[in-house]
Amino acid sequence: MPRIAASRNPELDELVATIGQQLGQALGQAIAAGLMQGIQAAGGGVTAGAARGPGRPAGTKNPSTKVACIVPECGRPGAAKGLCSPHYGKSRRLKMGGGPFTPAQLKTLAADGRAAAGKNGA
Ligand SMILES: [Zn+2]
Repeated sequence: MPRIAASRNPELDELVATIGQQLGQALGQAIAAGLMQGIQAAGGGVTAGAARGPGRPAGTKNPSTKVACIVPECGRPGAAKGLCSPHYGKSRRLKMGGGPFTPAQLKTLAADGRAAAGKNGA
């Protein structure tokens, strides 16, 4: 009947226990770090996606810009360069520059430009 000599060494037991503890701590830290990275990656992606919109939402006009659109018979509140948002976008599409706009340009902006600028079909 052979004697089992294992687990008779208190130093070895202590060493194994210490290694086990350290392994457990390292494993826990690794798991925690991985979780944090995953959470940050997911959260960052969501935040970036939500924050990157096409621009200022329609209807949220700058309160400091109370000048009406300079395009005749428009009547919408000015958003930029004295133009309302749609007319400003149109002026940019037509590459009119940042103003000041000539009466001819304002007339072009005032006209229904769907036919002229409607080259971007569905
Ligand atoms: Zn306008």
